[in-house]
Amino acid sequence: MRNGLNHLKTTLPAGRVVLFNPLQHSAYTKDYSSAKAENPGGIVFPEDINDILQTISVANQCFTPVTIRGTGTGKSGGSIPNPEGIVLAMEKWDKILEIDEENHIAVIEPGVLTKTLQDAVQKKGLYYPPDPSSLDICSLGGNVAENAGGPRAFKYGVTGDYVLGLEGVWGNGQAFSFGGKRFKDVAGYDLKSLLVGSEGTLAVITKITLKLIPYPSYIKDLLLTFNTVQEAARCLRIIVRNKVQPVAAEIMDRTCIEAVKNFSKESHDIPDSGAQLLLQCDGFTQESVEAQIKSMIGSANTCDVQQIFEPKTDNEIKSVWSVRRTISESLKALSTHKESHDISVPPNKIPDYFDYIDTLNTKDTIKILAYGHLGDGNLHVNVLNLGLNEKEWFEEKLDLEYELLKKAVDMGGTITGEHGIGKSKKNYMDLMFSSTDKLHFKMIKNLFDPNNILNPGNWV
Ligand SMILES: Cc1cc2nc3c(=O)[nH]c(=O)nc-3n(C[C@H](O)[C@H](O)[C@H](O)COP(=O)(O)OP(=O)(O)OC[C@H]3O[C@@H](n4cnc5c(N)ncnc54)[C@H](O)[C@@H]3O)c2cc1C
Repeated sequence: MRNGLNHLKTTLPAGRVVLFNPLQHSAYTKDYSSAKAENPGGIVFPEDINDILQTISVANQCFTPVTIRGTGTGKSGGSIPNPEGIVLAMEKWDKILEIDEENHIAVIEPGVLTKTLQDAVQKKGLYYPPDPSSLDICSLGGNVAENAGGPRAFKYGVTGDYVLGLEGVWGNGQAFSFGGKRFKDVAGYDLKSLLVGSEGTLAVITKITLKLIPYPSYIKDLLLTFNTVQEAARCLRIIVRNKVQPVAAEIMDRTCIEAVKNFSKESHDIPDSGAQLLLQCDGFTQESVEAQIKSMIGSANTCDVQQIFEPKTDNEIKSVWSVRRTISESLKALSTHKESHDISVPPNKIPDYFDYIDTLNTKDTIKILAYGHLGDGNLHVNVLNLGLNEKEWFEEKLDLEYELLKKAVDMGGTITGEHGIGKSKKNYMDLMFSSTDKLHFKMIKNLFDPNNILNPGNWV
C-alpha cells in the first residue's frame, strides 16, 4: 500500500503529498461519528484535476485504498481512512466558480462550505436552502456525497434536490461530466443521482452545479410547548392538514431541554415542558407569513398546547434556535457514552415510534430519547449511558441499536435519513436490502471502481 504513496510523492508536484504524522494530522483519522479512528499512510492535497487523475491512477496500479475527505463532519464514519491508505483531502477545492443570477444556478468546487455558498447567494437575493446543522463547518462535496438534509428539508428538500450537474473522476480513473445548467434532462441513465449519496464509494466529485431559488424575504419562528412529544407530533399533523407547510418543525423532549439548560452558559428563557415544537415559516410578503403563524396558533389551540411563544427580537430568535443546536453537545455532557442514530419513518408514525422508545426506557442506567426533524419524520435517536461499565454498555448498546433501527424499518422507514451508512451502519444493511439488492450494489461498485480503491470496507 505504501508503494502508492511513495509513487505519488515522486510524481505529484511538491507539497501535494504528506506522509502521516500523528501529531500534525490527527484530524484526518476520524470524523464526528463514534466509529474507530484509523491512521492513514499519508494525505494528498490535490490542487488540480491532474493531481486527482494521477492519484486515482496510481491507487489502481498499487491497490492503495483512497478515502475522499470533505471537512470530516460526517456522522457515519465515511471519511475515516483505511489503515495505511491515502486520504484525498478536498479542502483546497473551495472556490465558488459562478453565481449565475439570470438562471438561478451556482457552480462550485466541492470544498466550499455550505454556509459560505448560502451567504454569497443571499447577497444576490438568492437562496440555497439545504441546511445541515453543521453548515458552517461542512463542505458541499460532503453534502452531495451524503445527500445531506437539515431542518429546512421539510419544505425545501435535501441536497440532491438541488444538484443539476456533477463533474469528477470515477474510481476506475475515467473523468465524467453529467448534467449542468439545465433544470430538465432525461437523457440516458441518471448517473448524477447515482452519485448523490454514494458516500465517496464510486467517484471523486470535483465540480457541482446547484439550483438556487429566490430568497424568501420574510421568515418567522414559533415555539409551542406540550406535555409529551406524542402530543407535539400529533399537533404538527393538524397544522399541516390545515394547509400550512412550515419550513422547519423541530422537536425536543424534556431530557433535551433539561440537558441544554444544565449545559449552556448562555441564559435561555427555556420554558419547562415535556416537549418543545420549534416551527419556522417563510414567504415573500409579511402578510403571507403572518397568516401562516396565525393558522399555526389556531391549530395549536385545538391541541393540548401549553405555551405559545413568538420570538420577535434577534436575541429571542437566536435563543430558541441555539437550544435546538446545542442538544447534541448537551447530551454528551450528561452521559459517559452517547450513541446517535438518525432513523426516518413516515411522519404519521412518529407518535408510535415515541411510544416504542418509552417501552424501552426501563432502566436507570440507560436513557433513550429522540429529537430532531419532526416534519419529515427524521429523528435523532440517542442512547445515553448513565451508569454502565464499558463492557455492559457495549452489549446493551448493540442490542438497543438493532431494536431501534429494526423498528424504524418495520414501520416503513429507514436506518438512516441523512447521515449515511458509512462504517457505522454497514452491519444493518440486511434490515433494508435483500441479497439480490446487495449483489446489484456490488456490481455497480465493480463497474465504476473495479479495484475497490474508494472507501473499501464501507458498506459496499
Ligand atoms: C454538529 C453536526 C451537525 C450535523 N447536522 C447534520 C444535519 O442536520 N443534516 C445532515 O444531513 N448531516 C448533518 N451532519 C453530518 C455532516 O455534517 C454531513 O454528513 C455533511 O454532509 C458531511 O460533509 P463533510 O464535508 O464533513 O464530509 P466528510 O465527513 O468529509 O465526508 C462524508 C462522506 O462524503 C465523502 N466525500 C466528501 N467529499 C467528497 C467528494 N468531493 N467527492 C466524493 N465523495 C466525497 C467522503 O468520502 C465521506 O464518505 C452534522 C454533523 C455535525 C458534526
